[in-house]
Amino acid sequence: MSLPEILILDRDGVLFRHVEPYILFAHDVTVSPGAEQTVRTALELGVAVAVVTNQSPIGRGLTSWEFVHEVNARIHAWAPEGIEHRLRCYVCPHLPDDKCDCRKPLPGLLLQGAHDAGVDIGSAWMVGDHDTDMTAARAAGCGLAMHMTTGRQAEPSKIADICIDDLHTLIRLLRDEGGIQSTKSANELRRRL
Ligand SMILES: [Mg+2]
Ligand SMILES: [Zn+2]
Repeated sequence: MSLPEILILDRDGVLFRHVEPYILFAHDVTVSPGAEQTVRTALELGVAVAVVTNQSPIGRGLTSWEFVHEVNARIHAWAPEGIEHRLRCYVCPHLPDDKCDCRKPLPGLLLQGAHDAGVDIGSAWMVGDHDTDMTAARAAGCGLAMHMTTGRQAEPSKIADICIDDLHTLIRLLRDEGGIQSTKSANELRRRL
């Protein structure tokens, strides 16, 4: 494993605490422990961040784009100044019957995120709290599918590469791999000499 070029994060159940059935109102929004630090750590390590979220409540008329944008604005506020453009949020507002190509488990949002960041999706780590996220990661060709088991689905996903309990574990993994990356650049340097 090495540091990904992009970290793809599901929103609800990962960055914000899962609410049954949906996060619809301001009082539903609880930031997960470590969420801000996850985004900051990745960006500071030079890893692009894409947040990908299914928001069928928009299509169902249960919530508005305005509210979804408000929640996403909280994520954007976590990005360190000067590298905030490396963080992007992607939303599928459709219903399952709309047959769009962006609703997870389809890979549309993930592929768009990697494309916009100009990075190889093959190096991506995808973190989600449900099988649909892991299926999307597989379909997109992400290098690593990580199931966070403290969101919507506690049962460890059989299609995930690894399971984590919380975002602090993810932060640790990023930092460890960040260390490995410096070793790698040292090797690259040696090869050039
Ligand atoms: Mg989720
Ligand atoms: Zn869609």
